[in-house]
Amino acid sequence: MPIYEYCCQKCGHCFEVLQKVGEGGESLTCPRCGAAKPVKKVAACAVSHGSFSTGSCISKSGFS
Ligand SMILES: [Zn+2]
Repeated sequence: MPIYEYCCQKCGHCFEVLQKVGEGGESLTCPRCGAAKPVKKVAACAVSHGSFSTGSCISKSGFS
């Protein structure tokens, strides 16, 4: 199960979320301030490669 990192638009707190593939983050809330709709950051697989190839990472794991 992929891990996604989200950052809160209200307080700036970033947190990781385990999500099923294709599941959206619309229902997520910030664990610190409770604000809705945090912004998704780069995928965990791109981070583990130590590069910013976010596009190739997403094309491999998503859009099935
Ligand atoms: Zn917050």
